[in-house]
Amino acid sequence: MRPAAVAGLAAAISGDVLAPDHPAFYGTSAVTQLARPARPALIVRPACAADVARAIAFAREEGLVIAVRGGGHSSAGHGTGDGVMVIDTRDLRHLSVDPTARRLRAGAGLLAREVVAAAHEHGLTVPLGDSGSVGVAGITLGGGFGYLSRQHGLTVDRLVSADLVTADGRLVTASADSEPDLFWAIRGGGGNFGVVTSLDFDMVEAGTVHGGALVLPASRDVLRGVAPLAGAAPRELGVIASLMPAPRAPFMPPDAVGRPVVLVVGVYNGDRAAGEAAWAPFRALARPIADTVGPMPYHDVYRLAPGGPPAASVSRSAFVEVVDDVVVDALREAYASAPGTRAMVQLRVLGGAIGDRPGEATAYAHRAAPAHVLATATAPSPESLGPCEAWADDLLGALRSRSIGAYVNFLEDEGEARVREAYPARTYRRLAAAKAAWDPDNVFRRNHNIRPVVARAD
Ligand SMILES: Cc1cc2nc3c(=O)[nH]c(=O)nc-3n(C[C@H](O)[C@H](O)[C@H](O)COP(=O)(O)OP(=O)(O)OC[C@H]3O[C@@H](n4cnc5c(N)ncnc54)[C@H](O)[C@@H]3O)c2cc1C
Repeated sequence: MRPAAVAGLAAAISGDVLAPDHPAFYGTSAVTQLARPARPALIVRPACAADVARAIAFAREEGLVIAVRGGGHSSAGHGTGDGVMVIDTRDLRHLSVDPTARRLRAGAGLLAREVVAAAHEHGLTVPLGDSGSVGVAGITLGGGFGYLSRQHGLTVDRLVSADLVTADGRLVTASADSEPDLFWAIRGGGGNFGVVTSLDFDMVEAGTVHGGALVLPASRDVLRGVAPLAGAAPRELGVIASLMPAPRAPFMPPDAVGRPVVLVVGVYNGDRAAGEAAWAPFRALARPIADTVGPMPYHDVYRLAPGGPPAASVSRSAFVEVVDDVVVDALREAYASAPGTRAMVQLRVLGGAIGDRPGEATAYAHRAAPAHVLATATAPSPESLGPCEAWADDLLGALRSRSIGAYVNFLEDEGEARVREAYPARTYRRLAAAKAAWDPDNVFRRNHNIRPVVARAD
């Protein structure tokens, strides 16, 4: 990297360029995944799309790999990297809400909780995930599922258009009417096609909901019972069930803290009486250890699963074709044998509106998958992650007979075969063709990478 070129970039853009000797450099490059500590070469914080275009041109001229960082939650640590140039979108913070048209326009640097808070003022929302600190662009580009997915579909199903700067520096709007192939590809294809600067969403109603946390004993019967109930529940109810140590929380009895529990968190997005009825079968699974389910403002969902601090962790995930005893027992055994300091296994029942569109509708193709499982183990340091990795891979092996694919948003760096699992073959071929059209030199490769290959006819 030529110092004069760095100075030229800094002078040419209205945002900031941070070199490693800048006092804010390492704080700015921090991400939540500490498994692979990285030392980027440069951080650019664009203030507008033109800055992004200049940064991309600079990286190409200087031969730097580009990492794009939004909320910094990639479990693969893709928001940074050794020797890379980070394009950090945090200053792209524009936000406008049109409640009459039910449209929300968000800068790519915003976090999920900021988007949800702005929409909530109007009794509306954009269906995002369970963690408020995830970046809105990062979750959207992978598909995005959360509490409202069974009712309103994936985050990408509410995406109306996105502005992105492509590898050749063009600012392109992708929507159903403008570059539809690119629009298809970014709805699940991750950060492969450009740096998104702005997203336009169609909002849905979510004011006061009936939700909270139901803490149940960590028994096999409870774990076996949750998925059928969640699958049979009305679409308005979305829950996430985690087998984990009971967190310290105001509602948790002190003697339960740290002991294994099944924590069912969720939201019924509808009226109170129907919400009570929808939650009743979960309450009947076992005598609850704690129960906070009741009326709450939708934006409080981000208090339900605040997420842990940055940590060196290993996670593995899979869409499963059924949640039967094979899956339940694999998760229970994994939890019981987990190494490291903190472990969690999680079950999300999907279906509902996600499956209302065909698998070919977007690059997120696993729409028929009824459930998704995720297991995470945390180690005290990157050096001690080995047993966590072996454990996580064992779990994946135990789930193999039920696994029907991987979710790109939860993938770590698990190799090319796992990226292929994120996309059925036809989807991958179409993505590869879009990549060849929009990024033939694979400029955007610090991600779950799609190789640019022109598709053969089917
Ligand atoms: C605690 C936690 C909870 C989660 N919960 C959910 C959930 O409920 N539902 C769900 O679907 N997912 C969930 N995820 C996964 C999450 O959606 C992905 O990890 C997502 O990629 C994170 O985005 P980010 O911006 O925070 O991360 P970053 O690390 O900043 O970015 C991740 C990658 O996204 C791409 N990217 C980000 N911004 C841009 C941009 N502007 N332009 C182009 N590419 C970009 C890049 O390839 C980047 O490397 C969760 C993750 C964590 C850690």
